Amino acid sequence: MASEDEISLLVIVVDVNPIWWGQQAQREQEFTLSKCLDAVMVMGNSHMAMSRTNKLAVIASHCQDSHFLYPSKSWKAGDDGADDASSSGDGKYELLSVANNLIAEEIRNVMSKTEVRGNSTDTLLAGTLAKALCYVNRVSKDLEVGQEIKSRILVIKAAEDCALQYMNFMNVIFAAQKQNILIDACVLDSNSGLLQQACDITGGLYLKIPQQVALAQYLLWVFLPDSEQRSQLVLPPPAHVDYRAACFCHRNLIEIGYVCSVCLSIFCNFSPICTTCETAFKIQLPQMVKPKKKKLKQTT
Ligand SMILES: [Zn+2]
Ligand SMILES: [Zn+2]
Repeated sequence: MASEDEISLLVIVVDVNPIWWGQQAQREQEFTLSKCLDAVMVMGNSHMAMSRTNKLAVIASHCQDSHFLYPSKSWKAGDDGADDASSSGDGKYELLSVANNLIAEEIRNVMSKTEVRGNSTDTLLAGTLAKALCYVNRVSKDLEVGQEIKSRILVIKAAEDCALQYMNFMNVIFAAQKQNILIDACVLDSNSGLLQQACDITGGLYLKIPQQVALAQYLLWVFLPDSEQRSQLVLPPPAHVDYRAACFCHRNLIEIGYVCSVCLSIFCNFSPICTTCETAFKIQLPQMVKPKKKKLKQTT
């Protein structure tokens, strides 16, 4: 009935942090960035093959930058993919080969062109998520009358969290929650407190996969089903959400700390100037001294 007209949009955000993947290639040759993207393509293809109305977007999250892998700017030139004669010869659904070719081409561009500038080696995950939300918004504005859209974002996370992005990240999470957009997280390496909170707040799934080489299997088993189908599956138990906030100064997890009254940044030590928003706080401490000085002036 209504589900016939319902469009399901899946935005996959892939962390392509070159530093992390470079180290990964030395740690474990079995699971490289290209293997990860193979898994992403399997996931994307499966999603598009599930229903004619399903839509897909794939965004690469680089250091200080993010790029659309699919649909990309060169998409218009290929349009329906009819010029890709080689791909349609084997009877494969053309859209899938077009998507896979585009993703492979774009990731080559991204990894060869962008250099890491300065010492900012963190993945720009908050920015990429914001881009994903904008894309979801654009797609939902292009709908025909009577069509409904259900959107979700799947983050494939590799590198560690960046405490500097905490504020932007939380803003993105709450924006997603308001728009009823699920955020799922498939974590390859160290746990991410930010994504744990994102998934918990938006009703998505958080999973740190035990075996990286089996990424495609985890994607298909856990993350391909939408929220309705998930209720009927036996999925891995929900992760414990660490709601302790990391202090912005040392990234230590703290239970009690100082909070900036302007930007809500958290610090483990008192500082007269907030390092995030640069608000200067008037300190009340020296008040004990002032009255004494006045008294002294009066007597002399
Ligand atoms: Zn600290
Ligand atoms: Zn502040």
